[in-house]
Amino acid sequence: MEDRLITPQVLPEDEKEIRGPANMRPEHLDDFIGQDAVKENLKVFIKAAKARGEALDHVLLFGPPGLGKTTLASIISKELGVNFKATSAPMISKSGDLAAILTNLEANDVLFIDEIHRLNPAIEEVLYSAMEDFQLDLIIGEGPSARSVKIDLQPFTLVGATTRAGLLSNPLRDRFGIPLRLDFYNHEDLKKIVLRGAQILQMPISEDGALEIAKRSRGTPRVAGRLLRRVCDFGIVEGGKQVNSVLADTALKRLDVDNFGLDAFDRRYLNCIVKNYGGGPVGADTLAAALSEERDTIEEVIEPFLLKIGFIQRTPRGRIVSEAGYKYLGISPSKMKHDDTQFDLLKNIESQADE
Ligand code: ADP
Repeated sequence: MEDRLITPQVLPEDEKEIRGPANMRPEHLDDFIGQDAVKENLKVFIKAAKARGEALDHVLLFGPPGLGKTTLASIISKELGVNFKATSAPMISKSGDLAAILTNLEANDVLFIDEIHRLNPAIEEVLYSAMEDFQLDLIIGEGPSARSVKIDLQPFTLVGATTRAGLLSNPLRDRFGIPLRLDFYNHEDLKKIVLRGAQILQMPISEDGALEIAKRSRGTPRVAGRLLRRVCDFGIVEGGKQVNSVLADTALKRLDVDNFGLDAFDRRYLNCIVKNYGGGPVGADTLAAALSEERDTIEEVIEPFLLKIGFIQRTPRGRIVSEAGYKYLGISPSKMKHDDTQFDLLKNIESQADE
């Protein structure tokens, strides 16, 4: 998919920002806005681990992209006062890679593994004893000369992040003592994130300007930060004016981000279900093929927010566009219903094959 301004995934421009002086990533738990229940839980566990002088129990962070999983993992290490080592599951291709990372950790360090649901099963098994007993069980060599070696590790905290908790194997999930779910942010919290970001960017912004950006950020801080930067660029070009709701609205309309935070791709997705499949149900694979997109992208990037705002629903037979979704498209649901049974039959068979 081409780079969408409102994608919750990391874009090259975000990477540049994170490394530059305009880094909006909070460094302490108190600067981390929203997700109050998660923060409260973490505060208690961190305090207890520090009091005992032990490694914090392993933490699993799950939720859609861009909600602050990496940020929280790094905050956890800072609050504990230990080193932070970050990697992602697709980068660990051999058990030797994992062994190298684990044997280099110091006592109570935090190891962050992003996209942990993508860990290769053989490597996942090595992780089990490392997590449970701080011991590495490795098989060295092959065939009759193969032997197993045990290596003691320093106690550490694994922070795993995933957008797809359902894809995690049970033995792996069970080894995380602290599972924490991140949810989409409300407008008030996003507004605070935008105000904080504007302060870092040294851009004057009004409360209503921040709220306007917040409302269109799809409940996602990463999107809020990106939209803020674009609106600020617009403000600078317009003569360095204060960002207010009128300026934010004009800029975001020009950037094709509507009042709900949806763009042309979301509309194409919704229209595809409504116009090609009578509003659904339609399965993920069928939709992915119709939209020429990866199924994972549809499920992890496009759908979570549309589900959150109730424009679509997931049923055992596939996705359907809700009444709110029809209203958004300006189409009456009754007009779209058709009684082409042949077509329906085919559609249902496809949907069942998908799910
Ligand atoms: P994830 O790992 O879930 O994809 P990140 O931790 O990379 O998300 O967060 C994306 C960006 O959003 C970060 O650069 C950070 O600036 C911002 N961010 C995330 N959560 C918060 C928060 N609670 N408060 C302020 N900024 C946040």
